[in-house]
Amino acid sequence: MTKVYLSLGSNIGKRKFYLEEAIRLLNGLPNVNVTKVSSYYETPAWGNTDQNDFLNLCCELETNLQAQDLLNHCQSIEKKLGRVRHEHWGPRTIDIDILLFGDALINEDNLKVPHPYMLERAFVMVPLLDIAPNLSVSGKPISEIIKSLDCSDIQKIDVASVR
Ligand code: ATP
Ligand code: CA
Ligand code: CA
Repeated sequence: MTKVYLSLGSNIGKRKFYLEEAIRLLNGLPNVNVTKVSSYYETPAWGNTDQNDFLNLCCELETNLQAQDLLNHCQSIEKKLGRVRHEHWGPRTIDIDILLFGDALINEDNLKVPHPYMLERAFVMVPLLDIAPNLSVSGKPISEIIKSLDCSDIQKIDVASVR
């Protein structure tokens, strides 16, 4: 079994629905068990900032799948939930990124793990800290890494109040 961390985000339409549905579909995959889900966070868009705020979370899962197979499944779930690719870092119903896949280092054209931007994204690190407070990435505790990030606009939210 490999322990995997994913980052999920949505900034179109029923954001909470897309996130919940993605978690449900992930957990329904053969040989996948979702073991932890973080709180939900509202976060300003990153990179391409002229778009709606995102709802973000991280989850932990255990799987027997190979990393490439998990990526394929994640992309199928994105498609199923109406993800359409227009511009890079553009708005999306759902984005599912593989942050960590056990301690694997993967550098393939279509899959880079650890996710290349994870350490500089507060919207990834804050929810990740929720579910993996003792985790280290490349030998560095994430609780240390997060101290160098501006987390002021990453807002934990009560999902009951969100659409
Ligand atoms: P970013 O990767 O900077 O968060 P993005 O999520 O907006 O950007 P996408 O358009 O969702 O980018 O994906 C572009 C490609 O990234 C995908 O086709 C996928 O093959 C590739 N990719 C590389 N590494 C990963 C990873 N760790 N998790 C998910 N996709 C990845
Ligand atoms: Ca992404
Ligand atoms: Ca992605």
